[in-house]
Amino acid sequence: MERLVILGGGESGVGTAILGKKMGYDVFVSDGGKIKEKYKIELENLGVDWEEERHTEAKILMADVVMKSPGIPDTVSLVVKLKEMKIPVISEIEFASRYTEATIIGITGSNGKTTTTMLVNHLLKNGGLNVGMAGNIGDSFAKMVAEQDYDYYVLEISSFQLDGIVDFKPHIAIITNISPDHLDRYDYKFENYIASKFKIIQNQTEEDYLIYDADDEVIMDYLEQHKIPSKLIPFSLEKEFTEGAYIKNNKIQITTQNNTMEMEQDTLALEGKHNLKNTMAASTAAKLVQIRKQTIRESVQNFQGAAHRLEKVLKIHHVQYINDSKATNVNATYYALDSMKTPTVWIVGGLDKGNDYRSLMPMVREKVKAIVCLGLDNSKIKDAFGNAVDLMVETFSMEEAIKVAYKIAERGDTVLLSPACASFDLFKNYEDRGDQFKEAVKNL
Ligand code: ADP
Repeated sequence: MERLVILGGGESGVGTAILGKKMGYDVFVSDGGKIKEKYKIELENLGVDWEEERHTEAKILMADVVMKSPGIPDTVSLVVKLKEMKIPVISEIEFASRYTEATIIGITGSNGKTTTTMLVNHLLKNGGLNVGMAGNIGDSFAKMVAEQDYDYYVLEISSFQLDGIVDFKPHIAIITNISPDHLDRYDYKFENYIASKFKIIQNQTEEDYLIYDADDEVIMDYLEQHKIPSKLIPFSLEKEFTEGAYIKNNKIQITTQNNTMEMEQDTLALEGKHNLKNTMAASTAAKLVQIRKQTIRESVQNFQGAAHRLEKVLKIHHVQYINDSKATNVNATYYALDSMKTPTVWIVGGLDKGNDYRSLMPMVREKVKAIVCLGLDNSKIKDAFGNAVDLMVETFSMEEAIKVAYKIAERGDTVLLSPACASFDLFKNYEDRGDQFKEAVKNL
């Protein structure tokens, strides 16, 4: 019996355990931290041996294959040791993809993964396909492969998952965009992070597709410098193509396989330029798997976006409150500000991941009337924008931030939470931050 050791007892770890067990492996799960109660129960029910708050090398170094959860960096000594011993260390998507024949649509990028993944899933479902959605969303891919029998998978894939692939090959890959993020895991080298994102096409052939943002210079530079076997299908708001998605006569045009479809821009459910791009990417993927044009048009109109992404919460005294808690980097916040149509009271701040705020400056001057800082340490935000707005207030809890924003905002304004920072200084995670925002707004 081959031994499968799983490092990390979270969603992807337990999913891998379920699939591993089904495939006849001798499975062992080891987590350096605590394993959640619900996962322990699942592992017990499976009859899988596990440990927490330690890594017992004697039980790990005898593995035939190791699945490392995405949260564990490559630099931890145990992983280094495994690699030295030439024991394969792979990611969950690699493991799971070995046990399914389904067509995979894989979506990566710095921003827009979840939104685009959900939209592709929505499009394919409405088109009548037997499709499952997994990855960073909901159930793990491995668990789905073990328990379901889908013809198509739509997967949201982080760079950490891509770092651990060997043979994983999506038939359709989407790279939404690439901007600096998570550089702490990539030796602070942007090029390493870029290379990691492009691993999504490393096993593709001329039969497979890469859909990508042709307005993104980072992506374009990479494509120029590398030989890519995949069929390239760009999308753009600025250029036109013989094959790809573009704007012409103010309409969205999508041309694939010598066939063009048209959509009105102003009928889309998702607002903002970034979402126009996400919609173009997702619709192109749907068109490539032969979803009917009319179904695509209808689906992009009735799609409900994901929570915490430019989520409209309430209008109070003609002030619109928007929750964009998921904007944990500068680029996401750029697009949020860009999509603001009225003077904006901007709630920003949190745990700074080495942000460079300069790119936001023109947008802030144009759209923002006041800034409410919300973080333990707001010094960088104060330095960056102190001179750009008339009013800046520091707050240290969501409740306080909302009260201040409420006082400042006038009829017709927007209050936008788009932090450009991680949430871990004052909140459990971005969902907690967004939920507290919504709660505080509802209590106004
Ligand atoms: P991800 O899963 O990649 O983090 P999400 O769909 O969850 O992406 O969106 C994360 C944040 O980025 C949200 O604030 C959202 O408004 C913003 N965003 C969504 N799509 C894009 C895009 N194409 N370009 C830039 N920002 C985007």
